[in-house]
Amino acid sequence: MIKKKICLLGAFAVGKTSLMKRFVNSTFSEDYHSTIGAKVDSREQEIHGQQVRMLIWDLAGEDILTVVPKTFLRGAAAVIVVIDATRERSLDVAQSLAHTVRESLGDIRIIYAINKQDLVDDEVIEGLKSQLNTQESVVVTSAKTGDHVEDLFLDLATSFLAPSAGVQ
Ligand code: GDP
Ligand code: MG
Repeated sequence: MIKKKICLLGAFAVGKTSLMKRFVNSTFSEDYHSTIGAKVDSREQEIHGQQVRMLIWDLAGEDILTVVPKTFLRGAAAVIVVIDATRERSLDVAQSLAHTVRESLGDIRIIYAINKQDLVDDEVIEGLKSQLNTQESVVVTSAKTGDHVEDLFLDLATSFLAPSAGVQ
């Protein structure tokens, strides 16, 4: 069993908890509950004959605008930084969070998720993408419709396997 820790970061209300719930439970809630502290959820998935358990860490957005607790990031294999497609300001927050993560974890895998795709048109998405550092991968998601949420997490899980495991 391969176990990997994945951290979700991003400004308040961008959809971190919704993405985690969608991936772990295939559910979506319109209710708004601000998350307090860190919550860990997990999903196990067989990929190319190997069991991968993804431990997904979620933290309240409010707390992390300035500081990301070291204990939250410790041991992470990847960080997903979430952007709200309807709020351009959340992109600035995402970039500064990605910068903080790079400084404390060095060469870790960072993926941007541009979430709430269902609320905007393609031009908005393209505009946001063009502002992001192209070094990091970008996945456009909707926790509401479930669009590309599986891709976001499962592509990560696949990348965690030994290089030979992915070759068919
Ligand atoms: P968090 O603070 O980053 O954990 O954000 P939440 O997951 O709590 O979501 C904040 C609000 O945005 C909630 O009202 C969600 O229902 C809503 N939301 C999250 N993702 C999406 C999405 O993809 N589409 C739409 N339309 N609403 C979303
Ligand atoms: Mg939350």
